[in-house]
Amino acid sequence: MKIFCVGRNYVDHAKELGNDVPTEPVIFMKPKSALLQSHTPFYYPEFSNELHYEAELVLRICKNGKYIPQRQASKYYNAITVGIDFTARDVQQELKKKGLPWEKAKAWDNSAVVGQWKDVTADMQKKPINFSMKSNGEYVQKGLSSDMLFPFDEIISHISNYFSLNIGDLIFTGTPPGVGECVVGDILEGFFEQEKVFELEIK
Ligand code: MG
Repeated sequence: MKIFCVGRNYVDHAKELGNDVPTEPVIFMKPKSALLQSHTPFYYPEFSNELHYEAELVLRICKNGKYIPQRQASKYYNAITVGIDFTARDVQQELKKKGLPWEKAKAWDNSAVVGQWKDVTADMQKKPINFSMKSNGEYVQKGLSSDMLFPFDEIISHISNYFSLNIGDLIFTGTPPGVGECVVGDILEGFFEQEKVFELEIK
């Protein structure tokens, strides 16, 4: 199982971190060990002093493929949820300054959280999807899939030009604006449309 992530997929988020708006999808990966297993506590990583949440829509791949045309891409995922691409922002800023890869900031154990999976319906593939996250009961991020620079089909097609997609692979599709710091004791809740799909405490 592979975990793909898209960076800077919402214009307003790219800008809030002072990044250029990309002309093609920014792709990075997390290893399988990055996926927080259910009923496992999430611990603040000891190597960071600035942990950020990034709430994102996550797709689950249901069909093996390579060189997938955009017009076929909707057949390649059948489950969707909201998840968190946890980021050690202080570590990432240091790595970015030096032009080094991001793995130590993004791909560490349990840095990828996924909510309860929803079956993808034809309706979901036609209409924009709303998602959001609350921290300690207050909304901190609200996203709309139609605000993505690169929509699902384009992301899947693009990734598949470089990497085979296999059943069970996950794609984190990027975060809307509003990313921020979290501290021990915070409660993060993710919502797919109006339905709560995860609740997580930072331990
Ligand atoms: Mg992200």
